[in-house]
Amino acid sequence: MPSLFQHKLLNGAYGDPVLYINLFSKSFSYLADLGDISNLNNKEILKIKKVFVSHPHMDHFFGFDKLLRIFLGKDKTVEIFGPEPIIKCVEGKLKGYVWNLVDNYKNNFTIIVNEIHHRKMYKAEFRCKEKFKKRFLGSEKIRNRTIVNEEDHVVKCEILDHRTPSICYFFEEKFKINILKNKLKEYNFEVGPWLRELKTYIYAGKLDEEFEYNNKKYKISELAELITKITPGVKIAYITDLVFSKKNIEKLRKIAKDISILYIEATFLNKDNRRARERFHLTAKQAGFIAKLVNAKKVYPMHISPINTGKYHIVKKELINEWKRRVN
Ligand SMILES: [Zn+2]
Ligand SMILES: [Zn+2]
Repeated sequence: MPSLFQHKLLNGAYGDPVLYINLFSKSFSYLADLGDISNLNNKEILKIKKVFVSHPHMDHFFGFDKLLRIFLGKDKTVEIFGPEPIIKCVEGKLKGYVWNLVDNYKNNFTIIVNEIHHRKMYKAEFRCKEKFKKRFLGSEKIRNRTIVNEEDHVVKCEILDHRTPSICYFFEEKFKINILKNKLKEYNFEVGPWLRELKTYIYAGKLDEEFEYNNKKYKISELAELITKITPGVKIAYITDLVFSKKNIEKLRKIAKDISILYIEATFLNKDNRRARERFHLTAKQAGFIAKLVNAKKVYPMHISPINTGKYHIVKKELINEWKRRVN
């Protein structure tokens, strides 16, 4: 079965870092960062349900206007996650336009903003019908760094230092339930929507409940044993705009383990590491160190500075050398 997450970096290694994650067999997508999204068509944009903003520097947030333009007039809700002061930033953007005609729109377009603090998430809502006037929805506790908890996946986060809070995000499949086609045949089960239902029971841990198939009752655990194989899920990490500091590294060490796919900024080369420190960014070598730290299986460098145009192979080599370096 393919991974739940189908992911693509929209603007290559040098453009604004934006990661589009389409969720296999679901009707919605996620977006990590909101810089240049002109590579997405309207259909792809309208599938976006949640946007995870690392921090509202312009190169990570100016695509908000395009998103707003496409969603305006639609009966949809978009959720935005980000660090302080993301609520103020969204409010400021919305205040940049005149909304004198939207109160007679029929649709219910709504933006919900989740501002992530250390232990809490503050929520605010902006409804088109109310001319996008801010409404506070209170706060929610953050448990185990988890900000989204769905049936088959979670999204976790950590706040890092970029001389402003900058958040890295982790998109994790809980585990994978693989249906064994040969076993279906062997035990005379047919392929059909009931398998989806069976998976829902397994994800919910309802292993002792009964399930009826062709007038015969089975225990969920029995069916799981017969026709499925459980394997660890895919973990995608999106890490950008941070300084290489002890505190940041310690935070990453705690939250990120066994990452399947790592998207990470590699803005500067090691020879410019002073500049990287001054700008609160990483070098390719430091990105390689983090890749090793989180035991990444695959790494995609991104957000490479224009001063390194034409040097992609050098950036990649520097990163890989550090990532694959053995610790003696
Ligand atoms: Zn940036
Ligand atoms: Zn930045």
